[in-house]
Amino acid sequence: MSRPLPGFAAVDPPDRWPPTRGRFRTERLEAPLDSLAGVGPTLKKRLSKLGLERVSDLLDHRPRRYERPAPEKRISDLFGEEEVLIEGEVIRASLRRGRGRLQILTAQVSDGTGQVSATWFNQPWLKEKLTPGTHVRLRGQQNRFGFAVKSYDLNGGSATADFAPVYPASEEVSAAKLRELVASALQYARDDPDPVPAALKSHRWLPLRADALVALHQPRSLAEAEQGRQRLAFDELLVLQLALVRRAAEREEQVAAALSPPGELIERYRAALPFELTEHQEAAIVELDADLARTTPMQRLLQGDVGAGKTVVALYALLRAVEVGRQGALMAPTETLAEQHFLTIEGICMELGVSCALVTGSVKSKIGGQADVVVGTHALIQKEFEFRDLAVAVVDEQHRFGVEQRSALTEGRSPHVLHMTATPIPRTLALTVYGDLAVSEIAKPPANRKPVVTAWVTDERSSEAYTRLRAHLADGRQAYVVCPLIEESSTSTARAAEREAEQLRVGELRGFRVGCMHGRLKPADRRDLMARFKARELDVLVATTVIEVGVDVPNATIMIVQEADRFGLAQLHQLRGRVGRGAEQSFCLLVSGPKEELTESAHDRLEAMVASTDGFELAEKDLEIRGGGALLGARQSGLSDLRFARITHDRELLEQARDAAQGLPPETMAAEVDALLGDAEHLGDS
Ligand code: ADP
Ligand code: MG
Repeated sequence: MSRPLPGFAAVDPPDRWPPTRGRFRTERLEAPLDSLAGVGPTLKKRLSKLGLERVSDLLDHRPRRYERPAPEKRISDLFGEEEVLIEGEVIRASLRRGRGRLQILTAQVSDGTGQVSATWFNQPWLKEKLTPGTHVRLRGQQNRFGFAVKSYDLNGGSATADFAPVYPASEEVSAAKLRELVASALQYARDDPDPVPAALKSHRWLPLRADALVALHQPRSLAEAEQGRQRLAFDELLVLQLALVRRAAEREEQVAAALSPPGELIERYRAALPFELTEHQEAAIVELDADLARTTPMQRLLQGDVGAGKTVVALYALLRAVEVGRQGALMAPTETLAEQHFLTIEGICMELGVSCALVTGSVKSKIGGQADVVVGTHALIQKEFEFRDLAVAVVDEQHRFGVEQRSALTEGRSPHVLHMTATPIPRTLALTVYGDLAVSEIAKPPANRKPVVTAWVTDERSSEAYTRLRAHLADGRQAYVVCPLIEESSTSTARAAEREAEQLRVGELRGFRVGCMHGRLKPADRRDLMARFKARELDVLVATTVIEVGVDVPNATIMIVQEADRFGLAQLHQLRGRVGRGAEQSFCLLVSGPKEELTESAHDRLEAMVASTDGFELAEKDLEIRGGGALLGARQSGLSDLRFARITHDRELLEQARDAAQGLPPETMAAEVDALLGDAEHLGDS
C-alpha cells in the first residue's frame, strides 16, 4: 500500500488502545442497533432487512459510491433545482410538526450574500446542534419551500457535503438516514480493535483501521476513500491468507503412504489411449507423480477449461493407486456426471483388466467397495459405504462440494487427493480460494481442437439455426438442443423439454432420431439414453442443463441453446463445452428473444459468449457483470463475506496480503482466522 496521503482523515488519538489479538469488537460495537439514539423498534426492523443488526455492521456497510462534488454557489445566486453546495452560518433554527408524524427542522442560514431556509425532515435531534453561529456546509436543492438538505457538515467536521457516501439503501431506509447512523457509529470506531500487528502496519504504511473507517465513510476526497477501503480490504485478505497458511500447515502434518514410481499398468494405460498426451497433460502428470512420491497426502488442484482433457489425467492418478494394489475413487457432484465418467472410464479399465464400479444413490453396489476404481457421487462418503483401501481420490468439480463433504472423504484415512475444476476461475480468485493447494493447469486443449464458432440469433431467425443443425446431422454428426430452465421446478423444466422434443420430432427435426434428457428421468433410463447417444443411435439430444457438465461425445458438433438470455455466463460456457470436443469445427447457436427486450446484463452475457471462447476471459467478464460473491465456489471460501475487497481489482493487495501472511507467526489474528474457518465449516453443501 502506498504511503498515506498527507492529511489523511483521522479521529483523535485514543487514550488507551484496546488490546487486539483474540478479542473481537467491544460491547458498544457489538450492541444491537437500538442502542443508538434515534433507533426505535420500527427502524431496527427495517435496518435488519438490510442485514444491519449491530452497531459494527454500520461500520462495515460499505458505500457503493460517493456523490460527485456539487458546484458551490453563493446564496444570492441560488435559483432552479440544480443540486449545489452552499456554506454559511446558522442564524436560528426551529422545529415544527407537519402532516402526520412529519417533523420539519428549519434553519435560517446566511453567507453574507443572502439567506435561505434550510430544511431537514424527521431529524429533530439536529436542532440542538444548529445553534446560532454554527458553521454549516450544505448540499441540497432550492425548491419552493426553501433549501432541502441532502447532506451536510457542521463546523468543518466531516466532508459528507462533498463526497456523500451512497449506501446500499432500501425504500424503507433512506440514504440520508444511513449516513446519519453511520456517523454516530463512527464515534466508536476507536473501539474497533485493529487486528493487524503494529510492525506490519508500519512496514506497509497501513493507516490505522479506525482512520480507514472514517476515510471510508466520510472522505475528504475520493482518493482518501479508496485508501480507506484498501486498508479494510487488506485486513480481510490477510485473514483469508492466514487461514490458507494454517490449512496448508495442518496438511503438512498428515501422513500418507508414498506410492512407488509408475510401472507396468501405467505403461499399458498410455499404450491404450488413442492419442498422445499433450504437453500440458504430461506436465500435470509429472507434478502429480512428485506428490504421490511423498509421505504427505497430495492436495493438488487440476485446473483446465472444459474439454481440456482432465479426465485422462484423473484416470492416470487413479491407476497409480491400482498399480500398488490399492484403490482409486472418483467423486462427482451429480449422478449424470458420475455416470458419464463411469461410461468413459469403464471401457478402458476393462481393457486393462482393472475392475471398476459405479456407486450412486440409486446404484448402491455392494461390491463397489471392493473394486479397483470406484466412480460415484456423495454416496461414496455415506457411512454405509466402505472402501477396501483408498489411496487416491479425485474430486471432480470440487467447488460443488461443501467443505464437510470434501473432508468426509479424507476422514479416518489420508488418501492423496486431486481436486479438479472445469469452472474457469480467474487467477486472482484462484489465489484466494485455492491458495493452499498446489495447482496444475491444463492451459490448452489438445491441438486438434478448433474453437467453437458461436453466433447469437434472435427468435425470428431460429429456423435458420435448425437448417444449420440439420446440415450437420446429414453429415453424420450429432447435435444438442438445450431447453431453457423453468423457474418453478425441475418437473416443469422436464415437461417443457419433453414437449419441445415432441415438437421437434414432428417439426424441424422430422426424420431424425431425437432423444430427450432431463433431471426427472430414472437414472437407468438416463444412462441408457446417454449410452445410445454415444453409440450414435440417436442424432439429437434435446436436454435441460443436466448436460452442463461431463457429457463427452466428440461426434456432437452443433448445439442450439434456446432462450439463451436466461442462462448465466458460466453456465453458457459449460454448455458450449459439450461441443468442440473432437477435430471437427463445431458451432454453438444462441437463440434469444428480440434484442430490445433483453436486460443489459443478458445482452452483455451473450455478446461475451460470441466474442470469446476463453473460459478465463469469460469468468473475469462474469465477475464484472455479477460481482465477486456470486461466482461459483465463492460460498465455501469465505469470499462472499468479503465486504471491502474487490476480487477483480485488488490483485496487488491480495499478493501483498499473501506475502505478509507467509511472514507472520502462525498464531497471528488467530481469533479472526478461527471465525473464518469456523464459518466455512458451517456452510456444508451448496
Ligand atoms: P475435461 O474433463 O477437461 O472437460 P476431457 O478429459 O473429457 O476434458 O477431454 C475432452 C475430450 O478430449 C475427450 O473426448 C478426450 O478423449 C479428448 N482428449 C483428451 N486428451 C486428449 C489428447 N491428448 N489428444 C486428443 N484428444 C484428447
Ligand atoms: Mg470432464
